Amino acid sequence: MSDCLFCKIVAGQIPSTKVYEDDAVYAFLDIEPQAPFHAVVIPKEHIASAAEISPENSAVIARIYEAIAKIAKAEQLENGFRVVTNCGADGGQTVGHLHFHLLARRNLAWPPG
Ligand code: AMP
Ligand code: ZN
Repeated sequence: MSDCLFCKIVAGQIPSTKVYEDDAVYAFLDIEPQAPFHAVVIPKEHIASAAEISPENSAVIARIYEAIAKIAKAEQLENGFRVVTNCGADGGQTVGHLHFHLLARRNLAWPPG
């Protein structure tokens, strides 16, 4: 996906502040943080949104949650955190590459509104 912002971040064509990387997952700090700690966790493989998860590509979702647990330990988020995936127009998705917001270090309102 040559025109995808997050594919370009994975490829190093657009700079990012990396917080985690393995063979399947990349995570970096959000440029418009919505909490004192706000990372974006993505599959390296291009998947357009949560609506495109299928039996063929869903294994990476487990890898993403393994990565999130590692990041939470490394960042000492023992007070808790929230994982959010926006999907589609009504879901507020602005980048068309599946991603998981990892938000922490403040008390997060529920329901989110
Ligand atoms: P969403 O609105 O759920 O699609 O989330 C996209 C997120 O990507 C937003 O929180 C943006 O602030 C973030 N974002 C967009 N461009 C960049 C970038 N170049 N580096 C880091 N985060 C970005
Ligand atoms: Zn992409």
